[in-house]
Amino acid sequence: MIGSRALENERLDRPDALFLSELARDDPWELMHWAYRVRVKNFANTVRLCSIVPGKLGGCPEDCKWCAQSIHSSAPEAKRPQRTTIDEIHRTAKSAHANHAASMGIVNSGYRPTQHDLDEVVGAIRKITSDNNCEIELCASLGELTDEQARQLAQAGLTRYHHNLETSRAFFREVVTTHGYEQRRAPWVSLRAQPVTMSRTSSKTGPHRPCSRGIDDSRPPPLGRT
Ligand code: SF4
Repeated sequence: MIGSRALENERLDRPDALFLSELARDDPWELMHWAYRVRVKNFANTVRLCSIVPGKLGGCPEDCKWCAQSIHSSAPEAKRPQRTTIDEIHRTAKSAHANHAASMGIVNSGYRPTQHDLDEVVGAIRKITSDNNCEIELCASLGELTDEQARQLAQAGLTRYHHNLETSRAFFREVVTTHGYEQRRAPWVSLRAQPVTMSRTSSKTGPHRPCSRGIDDSRPPPLGRT
């Protein structure tokens, strides 16, 4: 039985995954029951919180169908880019930390950051990492990066990068036509080559880790942490 095998930490294969996707449709309560048991066994009654803050909102010429930041979206606020100041990002980080978030992502609209965009993000990262009362791990989602931009982010103290790969390689073309799957993956590959320079908020050292918004490889803090 797949549930018992998952409880034994056995790696599931593709036929198992296909069976589970059918179960999600036919009997979601059964799937939720086993998912709950696996979660409790591995993580007990804990959850890891993360938070996000926009560095730049809207005005993106790309056509990702899921995204309200695209100028092709019908969202009214999508048409003109708006910026968040370094002080506002710092205040958001302090608030996230006070609310027990373990990490915060700085998210910019656009396919790639201009050097001005990047300077703003680097400035915000430096301000937050120099605040001894705001210990929070920092992540970013800025799109494609040059190697030099990846180096600047890593040196400022970034430890995670969100890749914005919202679907599979095979399906990507169905939801985005203005860029490809591999272009989305490239910045994270570039950041992985950079050493982590600041590990104040992370017990892990080594290369940068990917963020997939909620899917995480680190253990969460206990609920009700003070
Ligand atoms: S590139 Fe980023 S901001 Fe632009 S439409 Fe795609 S997901 Fe949205």
